[in-house]
Amino acid sequence: MRFSTRAIHAGQPPDPTTGAIMTPVYLTSTYVQEAPGKHKGYDYSRTANPTRHALEANLAALEGARFGLSFASGCAAANTVMNLLKSGDHVVSGNDVYGGTYRLFTKVFQQYGVQFTFVDTTDLAKVEAAFRPTTRAIWIETPSNPLLRITDLKRAAELAHAHKALCVVDNTFATPYLQQPISLGADIVLHSATKYLGGHSDVVGGALLLDDEETKKRLAFFQNAVGAVPGPLDCWLVMRGTKTLAVRMDRHCANARHIAQWLSEHGDVARVNYPGLAKHPGHAIAKAQMRDFGGMISFDLRGTLEQSVKFVCATRVFSLAESLGGVESLIEHPASMTHASIPREERLANGLTDGLIRISAGIEDVEDLIEDLERGFAAMG
Ligand SMILES: *Cc1c(COP(=O)(O)O)cnc(C)c1O
Repeated sequence: MRFSTRAIHAGQPPDPTTGAIMTPVYLTSTYVQEAPGKHKGYDYSRTANPTRHALEANLAALEGARFGLSFASGCAAANTVMNLLKSGDHVVSGNDVYGGTYRLFTKVFQQYGVQFTFVDTTDLAKVEAAFRPTTRAIWIETPSNPLLRITDLKRAAELAHAHKALCVVDNTFATPYLQQPISLGADIVLHSATKYLGGHSDVVGGALLLDDEETKKRLAFFQNAVGAVPGPLDCWLVMRGTKTLAVRMDRHCANARHIAQWLSEHGDVARVNYPGLAKHPGHAIAKAQMRDFGGMISFDLRGTLEQSVKFVCATRVFSLAESLGGVESLIEHPASMTHASIPREERLANGLTDGLIRISAGIEDVEDLIEDLERGFAAMG
């Protein structure tokens, strides 16, 4: 079956007892047993819940993976991947990964003796140079946040495997509709389901998708042992979201492409970061490994930090907020919001300027979005 059909049907046959077309929300913590240990496959909801299983099967089908595990958040999913490592192990990570991932690595796992090297993964020579005999995993986000840099997933996975390391890809920005890292060689795909998978900014969730059964068993063990599982209603909300993922993504991409083109012709914009633009340095790779270029854009204003703040405060359709991937358009100023915790010098060295603005293009009418951005430009003074 093709993507949109899988999105609607995979993991969610009609309920056999009632015929309910929608997967029931199994709000139960425990399950009756006929005799000790004799049950229908469910004994306690931290370990297993039918609504969660439906979501896990659905997400695995969408990523083209054999196995899926879902979590209370994207960070909980990332934590569970890191549970595979032990003290002395080393990870090569992208240098513009999600802030919460960077925090998990440097503030949580570093204190347990896991070591990290942060590199620009778009430059595979740098990735290669960062490997050590103890390297167990490389961690990649593409497109990255907030600069929308593109890493060649196939070559990155080959490098990882040459060094007997896992290739972990955070596919949150692209979604399985636009990019399927497992088909390119990745071992584990991570999602913050909070973003495009849920798609309506009403749920926090995460997931891991993979093919290897041994690794899946270990991750499922940690899922149960650590316990950061999603509740059944949250699972149901993400499943409601994935049903419309393809149609939403088509519109997110169309709106973003239009806005990126318009911004790139605007005199007050120094640079637009959108992999769909022919002059984006990762355009050719993105074109080869993605179906379309996504709904995220960042751009550099020719202006001061104060003017950028005025810009993001002036829009009315774009809401000023962190997060992304919902049907509504969001705007934010990384230097003072999502990436404010990074010291200014380090930020600038990474290309994260004071004038950088990030937008998550929603699925509204694009003319209204353009008019709204005009309000931002007018407010710069
Ligand atoms: C939001 C996000 C996460 C973390 O997910 P939560 O659901 O907020 O815990 C991880 N990676 C990326 C790329 C994200 O955007």
